[in-house]
Amino acid sequence: MKHITTFESKKVLVLGLAKSGVAAAELLHRLGAFVTVNDAKPFEESPDAQGLLSKGITVICGRHPDDLLDEGFEYVIKNPGIPYHNPIIKDAGTRGIPVWTEIELAYLISEAPFIGITGSNGKTTTTTLLFHMLNQGGQKPLIAGNIGTVACTVAESAKPEQVIVTELSSFQLMGINSFRPTISILTNLYEAHLDYHGSFDEYGEAKFAVTKNQTPEDIFIYNMDQPAIVKYAKRSNAQLLPFSTKGRQENGISADATHIYWFGEPYLERKMIALPGEHNLENILCALAASILLECPKETIQHVLTSFTGVKHRTQFVREWNQRKFFNDSKATNTLATKSALAAFKQPIILIAGGLDRGHSFEELREHMGHVKAIVSFGETSNRLSDFGASCGVNKLEKVENIQQAVKVATSLSEPHDVILLSPACASWDQYANFELRGDDFIEAVFQIK
Ligand code: ADP
Repeated sequence: MKHITTFESKKVLVLGLAKSGVAAAELLHRLGAFVTVNDAKPFEESPDAQGLLSKGITVICGRHPDDLLDEGFEYVIKNPGIPYHNPIIKDAGTRGIPVWTEIELAYLISEAPFIGITGSNGKTTTTTLLFHMLNQGGQKPLIAGNIGTVACTVAESAKPEQVIVTELSSFQLMGINSFRPTISILTNLYEAHLDYHGSFDEYGEAKFAVTKNQTPEDIFIYNMDQPAIVKYAKRSNAQLLPFSTKGRQENGISADATHIYWFGEPYLERKMIALPGEHNLENILCALAASILLECPKETIQHVLTSFTGVKHRTQFVREWNQRKFFNDSKATNTLATKSALAAFKQPIILIAGGLDRGHSFEELREHMGHVKAIVSFGETSNRLSDFGASCGVNKLEKVENIQQAVKVATSLSEPHDVILLSPACASWDQYANFELRGDDFIEAVFQIK
């Protein structure tokens, strides 16, 4: 790692703990800063805070004192989840104290370049796919983000000849200052997180930050099918590499029904791709473009595309049993994600759905209900989903208590060549601590079928 002096003998406040806060506090401590961490969780309930205290870091727990910044901090490193209307963050703005996220720290200390991947959907899939391509191509890449380790921890051990493939949320990107990836990727832009960002423009600006520090030596891979993104691309200083899923293009990477094209020339046939779903085509084009640019061998790219069937819990293929295929899309915690999953299949689907009731409508799914032959619903939204299915003319509607029952009932309703899909369209918190546990439960139940 680079031994930077930016934080030496400086008072730094780390706001919000969790994995990234702990990693940032420990790193700053090693870099010679006087670190204070502040977290809402009471000290007695926070092993993280106790661990940091034992290392000589000041901890203020259980509250966020109004006068916290009177201590004279020179930097604030905030957890990405803390909104900018938080009083301490606002106060820092008034006082002119820089407020960064740990991704900026990662960039400052890293000897390895970054590949930054953002977008409303497809970040984890693109990041994982690209990581596999580079890894199997022998490049020893590192991965940071949702399914990897916190970026600043990864950056500490990164060597100059490696690359850090990094998934970036808009929340993280809002807290960057100099972070400059050599390759940046913007998969797509949909209305999301407007409660945090306020407006679509503000959200778009946060995503645009992935390329804002790039120079003509760097590359920006972007979705040319979305006018809002094209508008941002015009402002980027990087070399532009557009992608399109809407037919062959002379520039960049593109796809039609049969092929993927690299600058207008056929590169490979789509039938060799194992990852299901039209939506995944965007993710594939992004990962493919970056791996071609990084000189990953074509045979390796092809091998990964024939074997990669998805990231766990994201329309993940689980098992084939008696000519039925089971897919786990537990990550689909909203209707938009379930809509993509339904659109990914042409076969008849038995949909297992349900979960926390936020009062949200399922209307968005209606246009994709044509090939749903049954809905097995569970959780708080079970009745509402069943009523919705009836209004769409779905033949079979079954309400059950939990995922184990749902798998049994769905299997009994199924016929050869059906897809049995868990894509809940709801958060898991009425029955599970998180969507991962819900997906694991599904996988276990699927493997119990005899
Ligand atoms: P993210 O990390 O951005 O949340 P993931 O790769 O984890 O994205 O995918 C989450 C869900 O979003 C998937 O299960 C799928 O239903 C949907 N999805 C993934 N990629 C796309 C895409 N490019 N366009 C639309 N929906 C997508």
